Amino acid sequence: MPEGDTVHRTARGQHAALAGSVLTGTDFRVPRFATLDLTGETVDEVVAFGKHLFHRVGEYSIHSHLRMEGSWQLYPRWADADAHWDRPAHLARAVLRTESLESVGFELGTLDVMLRTEEHTVRERLGPDLLDPAWGQEHTVEAAARLAARPEVPVFVAVLDQANLAGIGNVYATELCFLRGVLPTRPMGDTDAAAIVDLARRLLVANRDRTTRTTTGDLRRGQTTWVYRRAGQSCRRCGTTIHGGRLGPEVSPAHAEQDRSVTWCPHCQR
Ligand SMILES: [Zn+2]
Repeated sequence: MPEGDTVHRTARGQHAALAGSVLTGTDFRVPRFATLDLTGETVDEVVAFGKHLFHRVGEYSIHSHLRMEGSWQLYPRWADADAHWDRPAHLARAVLRTESLESVGFELGTLDVMLRTEEHTVRERLGPDLLDPAWGQEHTVEAAARLAARPEVPVFVAVLDQANLAGIGNVYATELCFLRGVLPTRPMGDTDAAAIVDLARRLLVANRDRTTRTTTGDLRRGQTTWVYRRAGQSCRRCGTTIHGGRLGPEVSPAHAEQDRSVTWCPHCQR
């Protein structure tokens, strides 16, 4: 599942491949932008903020969000023939072509083309970005304060709320609760918010440059998480059977499309 680490890695790959190139064709396969054509514009840079991507092209910014299954893929172009995509064409939402490459956005949860000067309208809705290269103590304090502002919200729900801190998805939210020894339902006010932010940042930074995400430090298949997607299996720490469920009622409509399944160890997490 794409989380902040995946999105930042995607931005770096897209930037390395496209920055400085002139677009020779564009294809936006959503009704609102079906007639938009950015041919002739230059890709200046591709940046990530939290789980949001921005392809900055001329005065425009192509804003996308990968949600659950989305991805941006790069394909070389041979002469005039289109490259072979490894995902079905009907899942493509955006195609950006240069002389030598084709970048295809598949299953994008959000696809919006805005003026670059409007990017702030997205960023203002988000808390501090855990993978911000300029991250400092002030960001930890800010994110912790946002988490603590609604002390009754379950910790699992609070850390998924991108308005508190940006970059966490279901995998990290689930694993953070285990590593902090708290049940996903524990009210935020009954936890150490700053310690949660610190740990979240360490986990994302540790995985920033990896293609295999791990929260256990083990990169072997099936060994990369403590409890995520391990319901019914034994806790790696204490052997107790891991429980699974959904955490839903307090979820805000804005995040309703996110996977809310959660797992936990009833012995290690209190
Ligand atoms: Zn356990």
